[in-house]
Amino acid sequence: MTAIAAADLAELLSDLVPIGLDEAGATTRLAWTREDEEAAAWFARQSALLGRTMERDPAGNLWAPPDAPPPWWAVGSHLDSVRAGGRFDGALGVAAGFAVAARANVPVAVISFADEEGARFNTPTFGSRALTGRLDVDDALSRIDRHGVALGDAMAEAGVDPDGLASAPEWLERLRGFVELHIDQTRDLAAAGAASAPVARLAARMRLQASLSGRADHAGTTRREERHDALAAAARLIVRADDLAAERPDMVFTAARIEVEPNAPTTVPSATRLWLDARAPEPGDVEAWRAAFAADAAAIAERSGAELELRTAAWSPGTTFPAAVREALGAACGASLDGLVCFAGHDAGVVATQRPAGMILVRNPTGVSHSPAETVSLEDAAAGANALMAALERLA
Ligand SMILES: [Zn+2]
Repeated sequence: MTAIAAADLAELLSDLVPIGLDEAGATTRLAWTREDEEAAAWFARQSALLGRTMERDPAGNLWAPPDAPPPWWAVGSHLDSVRAGGRFDGALGVAAGFAVAARANVPVAVISFADEEGARFNTPTFGSRALTGRLDVDDALSRIDRHGVALGDAMAEAGVDPDGLASAPEWLERLRGFVELHIDQTRDLAAAGAASAPVARLAARMRLQASLSGRADHAGTTRREERHDALAAAARLIVRADDLAAERPDMVFTAARIEVEPNAPTTVPSATRLWLDARAPEPGDVEAWRAAFAADAAAIAERSGAELELRTAAWSPGTTFPAAVREALGAACGASLDGLVCFAGHDAGVVATQRPAGMILVRNPTGVSHSPAETVSLEDAAAGANALMAALERLA
C-alpha cells in the first residue's frame, strides 16, 4: 500500500480551502450556514470517490462509513471554522481522514464533527458532545446567534431535525475509537524539530462568570465614598485573577469578555459582567486558583462599592488520552514529545470520555491558529497522516 504524499492532501484540500475564503485569505465557515453546507457537499464528494455514501447523524455530524460491519475506528476532525480563521484548523484533519481511509488495510470511517468551534452559538464541540451524550440539549437549543436566529432553526434550515438531537448517542455504537490529526496551535513542535507528535493530555479548563452590581451616578459629582463603581471593581478583579494565575507556572488566564452598563462616558458604571478563562495541565491547579480568587473576590469588589456574584459557567477537568492509543501514535510518529499538553478543547477529548481516542499534532511554524496566519507544510501533514494510519492498523 502506498504512503500518503503531500500531493494527496493538496488534492483533497484544493476544493475545500476556497469555501468561505475571503479576499484577505481568512476562512469563515460557521456551523449551519451556506458555507458549512458547501463543506458537507465536499465531504459527500470525497465519500463517493471512495465508493462510500455520506451519512449525517442526528447531531449533523458527517460520516463516511467503510464497507464493513460496525463498530469501526474513525479518523477526522471538523469542517467549521471561527470567524476569519485559518485554512487548516479542522479541515486538515478531515482531509487526512479521507487519505487514511483510502489506503489503510483496516476498515476506517471518516467523521467531520458538527460545530466544533461553537463560534456562532457558543456551543464548542457541539457534535461530539451530542454523540457522546454530553450535550445539554435543551440549553443548546435555546441558544441564539448574533442575528437573533435560534440554533434549532439554523439546524432545521441546514436539513437536520433539531427534535432528533437527543437521539444522537444511538450512533455511538458504530464507533470503536477515534483519532484526530490537527495543526499544532503552539510552536512546541517547531521548537522540538518534530513534524508530528501525539498529544498526551488536554488541559483542564474553567470559565468563570463574575457579575458586579454597582449604582449608576454622575461621574463628576459623586464623591469617592459614595461610589458603587461596577467597572472599577471588575478591573481590580481582573488584575487579582491574573496575578493568582501568574503564581502557577503552567497556567494561562484570559479576561476574555466584558459587558458594561450603562457604558456611557459620564456615568459611574452600574453593572458589569466578566468572563474569565483559566487553564492548566492539571485540574487541581485550576481549582486552587478558583478557590484563592473566590476567597477574596467579594472583598475586592467591595473596595469599589460593588457587589459580586461569581459562578462557574464551564468546567472541564481535562482529558488524558489512553496509554494504548498514545503509545501507538508515539511509536508511529517516531518523535514523542513526552507529556505534550494541548490547552485547546478538541472533539477527540470529548470522544475520549466514551471510547479510546487520541490526537496527533502537526508542526505549525508560526504557532498561530484561528487566524489566516496559520501555516503547515503538507509534507509534515503527510508524515502525520502516515503515522496515524500506521497507529490505526496497530490499534484495529
Ligand atoms: Zn480545530
